[in-house]
Amino acid sequence: MTARVLDGLKIRDQIFLELKEEIVRLTAQGIRPGLAAVLVGENPASQLYVKTKIAACEQLGLASWLHTPPASATTEQMLALVDQLNRDDNVDGILIQLPLPKQVDTKKVLEAVDPAKDVDGFHPVSLGKLVSGREGLVACTPAGCMEILRRNNIPIEGANAVVLGRSDIVGKPMALLLMHANATVTICHSKTRDLPNVVRRADIVVAAMGKAGYVKADWLKSGSAVIDVGTNKITDELEAEELLKNFPQRLAKFREKGSALVGDVHPDAVNTAGALTPVPGGVGPMTITMLMSNTVKAARLRRRSVAVVANH
Ligand code: NAP
Repeated sequence: MTARVLDGLKIRDQIFLELKEEIVRLTAQGIRPGLAAVLVGENPASQLYVKTKIAACEQLGLASWLHTPPASATTEQMLALVDQLNRDDNVDGILIQLPLPKQVDTKKVLEAVDPAKDVDGFHPVSLGKLVSGREGLVACTPAGCMEILRRNNIPIEGANAVVLGRSDIVGKPMALLLMHANATVTICHSKTRDLPNVVRRADIVVAAMGKAGYVKADWLKSGSAVIDVGTNKITDELEAEELLKNFPQRLAKFREKGSALVGDVHPDAVNTAGALTPVPGGVGPMTITMLMSNTVKAARLRRRSVAVVANH
């Protein structure tokens, strides 16, 4: 059996269409949602990420601003910038591109962001709202995984879901979202015993470990839905041969480029799972999509609360 491919690009396009309509509606009410991105220093990967995020804003008709403090920026300078963005009523979302330079206290800066503008969903207040099931801004990658499951009509209620990884930005929020959607959730980490047998019981597997091809095809229950969050760049020839031996085109491409992107789930899982996100092209595009969605949501929630206060 070949797994159904859960195409993240297709869902991104659907959500972008919906967002465009909502942005037109909000603009007609005089509200233009906007995202402020803060890019410190000149890390090429961060520059590329931020450029892609700003391009997505432009594509959707969102306002965007780019702030580029130098690599020598101090915690105090970063806090002053965050304070300025918190006070700017045109700014609905604040994105602090990570990593920040070593001398900057990252936690302090992220916690200074107004939770109402926390479009990355990293603030403790956002996490607290998620724990207690209140409306708020949810971390983009796990929110995107939920969209993939829902929009592909994968049953979540009553399902056994296994989340591999317990990071604050992926594993933990993912487990909470699945639990709120009435799955029975098991969270696994590096100390979990007998991982293959835990995974074998899962109807839904979310792999977010950062270990190329770690989850083997024969760990998966037949028909299970697998969301592969891992994005691992492999450069080792032997590793590539082991992972891609049944995918001659991908192996040839690896040899041409000297690298390939693979998920945390072994590519052979396409023969055992019922449905599977590809890497690349699965969860990856959903992260920026949900950042856009969170910016529009932040605009809706913030401006609604301003309107409520104004009417009292
Ligand atoms: P992270 O902070 O490094 O967390 C990794 C988690 O995996 C930890 O909880 C760790 O357990 C667990 N783990 C490691 N080895 C394990 C093993 N052998 N068995 C079971 N659990 C194990 O990583 P992250 O930030 O959550 O990211 C995870 C992956 O997702 C990475 O590949 C990252 O690049 C990718 N990612 C992709 C996107 C996207 O947009 N597609 C977004 C975010 C992240 P302990 O807690 O015990 O150490």
